[in-house]
Amino acid sequence: MTEPLIFELSRPGREGIQLPDNDVPAKAVNELLPADMLRQQELQLPETSELDTVRHFTRLSRMNYGVDVGFYPLGSCTMKYNPKICEDAANLPGFTRLHPYQPEETVQGALELMYQTQNYLAEITGMDAMSLQPAAGAHGELTGLLIIKAYLKSKGEKRNKVIVPDSAHGTNPATATLAGFDVVTVKSDLRGNVDVEALREEVDGNTAALMLTNPNTLGLFEENIVQIAEIVHDAGGLLYYDGANMNAIMGITSPGDMGFDVVHLNLHKTFSTPHGGGGPGSGPVGVKAELEPFLPKPLVIRDKEFYKLYYDLPLSIGKMRSFYASFGVVVKAYTYLISQGVVGLKSVSEHAVLNANYLMRRLAGHLNIPFDRTCMHEFVCNPRGLKENGVRTLDLAKRMLDYGYHPPTIYFPLIVEEVMMMEPTETENKETLDEFADNVVKILQEAVEDPEKVKAAPHDTPVGRLDEVTAARNPVLRYSKK
Ligand SMILES: *Cc1c(COP(=O)(O)O)cnc(C)c1O
Repeated sequence: MTEPLIFELSRPGREGIQLPDNDVPAKAVNELLPADMLRQQELQLPETSELDTVRHFTRLSRMNYGVDVGFYPLGSCTMKYNPKICEDAANLPGFTRLHPYQPEETVQGALELMYQTQNYLAEITGMDAMSLQPAAGAHGELTGLLIIKAYLKSKGEKRNKVIVPDSAHGTNPATATLAGFDVVTVKSDLRGNVDVEALREEVDGNTAALMLTNPNTLGLFEENIVQIAEIVHDAGGLLYYDGANMNAIMGITSPGDMGFDVVHLNLHKTFSTPHGGGGPGSGPVGVKAELEPFLPKPLVIRDKEFYKLYYDLPLSIGKMRSFYASFGVVVKAYTYLISQGVVGLKSVSEHAVLNANYLMRRLAGHLNIPFDRTCMHEFVCNPRGLKENGVRTLDLAKRMLDYGYHPPTIYFPLIVEEVMMMEPTETENKETLDEFADNVVKILQEAVEDPEKVKAAPHDTPVGRLDEVTAARNPVLRYSKK
């Protein structure tokens, strides 16, 4: 599998497309543009035929891996199958040809779709109002903490502490720091829950918020969530819900029921937008009524039968991005929501949890399960007895590539050593889960019988084992034809 750069396939004068003769009077470009905007050198574009181009990109696409190719149990990321009908809807010309500055009366359908999506997501999360603006989960976190900050300020309060559990996703402490808060970590207990006594000691009159993921990043439901919410609220703090794991609880419980005040969702995880490849994503933020005035503007509202962008929000934190939302992603989420319906969404969560528990039980005799209790939509595990051979979790993950899988998340969360975090998602069938489990067992056997082979994996991928630090800092993007 060698593939040259398209520039290496280029031959002067070779073309992939023939354009008709120009019937507009020609004018030199330097008569149209100021000199400092003109290119100094010829534009370097590859010159290839249509067939060369198609073959080049098709070959490249076959070196890639995605959910549409095979199993992708990347915990926390929810790499589930995204129904193609969502793409079809987002590609309707009525949506793709809109301009964000069109008059409202010409975009009533798009505004209605945004309005409905706001309402559905608010209902699912148990919040009173929702903004679709943030561009991803981390951006939703920032939006949520800025809302909390503005709310506290409006009450004349100066609280600057944000508490995060030690199992939290790295974006949580990063966001709190970026929003100007001091971050304090609270440890987990032996069942994988927030240590309630440790939390009690940390919460005080300076506490602005607790950021929590539930189910948490160990795939475990916070059993003391009601008590946790009381502790924080009693001290005058707020609860922020990281909704990356919302796919485990839809239609069963909600952050609103648990006592959260602010939530973000990741539409590219739970609500069926392909995830990765640089986006775009979408991280809507929902709040309880008291915080509604601080949401980013504009919101989409309905005024009698007319939908409009509403800017009259004097306490709003302002705009968090250009225009109104990652609109195409919102169309996909809306399509997913109405095609699943209430019953379908609940069944999504039930199957996500069922699949994770099934896979966990299939592997329990072969891998160590540090928190041996019913999991939610994902679980953590680690290899046992491999240290003598020097085989690490990284090696197992690399070997999975040879078996045609995207490996699970590894070395996160940080509190379990040599951890693997598996999220099968609800869209996989039993045969796939069984086959994966069998192959993991095979790889674990290989790790005992032929550890050097596993340590040198992958063997069958276009590129072998990389020095990951060098690869990240000094990537070689040209395929070597050695
Ligand atoms: C993915 C994830 C985030 C960050 O979301 P992005 O959309 O990638 O910015 C935050 N918290 C958790 C638990 C996550 O899994």
